[in-house]
Amino acid sequence: MAIYDAEGKIVRINPAAEQITGFQPEDFSASIAERWGKVRVETPDGQPVPHAQVPAFRALRGETVQGELMVLHLVSGRTIWVSVSAAPIRIGWEILGAVATFADLTRVRQMQQEREAFLHSITHDLRTPLTVILGHAELLRPEIEGADLGEMPDINIRSILLAGRQMAKMMEDLVDLAQFEGGKLKVEPEPTDVPAFLADYLKRAQVAMDVSRVAVSLAPDLRWPALADSRTLERILSNLIGNALKYSEDLVTVSVGAAGEEIVISVADKGPGIPPEDLPRIFDRFFRAAGTKGEGLGLGLYITRTLVEAHGGRIWAESTPGEGSTFFFTLPAGIPDKKDTP
Ligand code: ADP
Repeated sequence: MAIYDAEGKIVRINPAAEQITGFQPEDFSASIAERWGKVRVETPDGQPVPHAQVPAFRALRGETVQGELMVLHLVSGRTIWVSVSAAPIRIGWEILGAVATFADLTRVRQMQQEREAFLHSITHDLRTPLTVILGHAELLRPEIEGADLGEMPDINIRSILLAGRQMAKMMEDLVDLAQFEGGKLKVEPEPTDVPAFLADYLKRAQVAMDVSRVAVSLAPDLRWPALADSRTLERILSNLIGNALKYSEDLVTVSVGAAGEEIVISVADKGPGIPPEDLPRIFDRFFRAAGTKGEGLGLGLYITRTLVEAHGGRIWAESTPGEGSTFFFTLPAGIPDKKDTP
């Protein structure tokens, strides 16, 4: 913990905060700019934090900052991850100083990275034999389906494929989760023609899902592309369409339309629906509605929401139990600059 006067000089600091920040007694009476000039401060994704945005500075301007995560590169060459909270000390309206608390998260961060690397390597190692199983099952499918196997019990090749794909999906979800938590989510949106993307995606998805049950409905007034990162858009679509196919047996309809300055994409199914009390929670991590059948980790919708929000979009679901569910998400439209249009 450190206490600052109105000019930002340190008037009190405890040994823990001294150790975390690396500040020496001679730094205490220096100005904030001089003091922080010795330390390079970054956000967790590597953006430099200007001195004026350092939590103690913001607190001296009257802001209360909670748990801001920063990376400090100290003079000693050490890099540490800290969570900082800061608040102004006031009497009436006057700000007399500020107080800041620091927590060293470097070890937690290292453990997170180790977990991410571990998850990555085990899922990678598990994926290789799984790909072999799925590939061979796919090759055997036409041979086995409809063949007279004589004495052999019925081999349900579709069940092998279905279970294998579910396992592949769960591994992919776990890798994504580890990556988000490691702060590694990066989207690079570019203008994307959604109907063309969707048609191409459904063609490619034939091996992984039963696309014969997917219908597409396009609004006639689609004028603009969406601003989307193609790999990420594919994950979003495969999660929502995959769920709709998993939880229902009828036709699934994917619709694309525009509303204001957004492209709206929806995935509708005629499955069991989602109880109203569960609707607000289905996008939470590891949430699965009571009575949900089939395998799953409850991560797909959490990942989908994170990916949609990383594009600046929104996601929500509407559902009537017994009748079906519709998932909607929006993406910003790539509207050309007015000056570019004649
Ligand atoms: P998972 O499908 O792996 O359980 P998700 O995060 O994709 O995880 O979904 C969370 C929960 O939301 C599911 O367990 C299920 O209860 C519910 N759900 C998602 N999509 C649908 C759907 N199309 N119809 C009915 N319930 C759904």
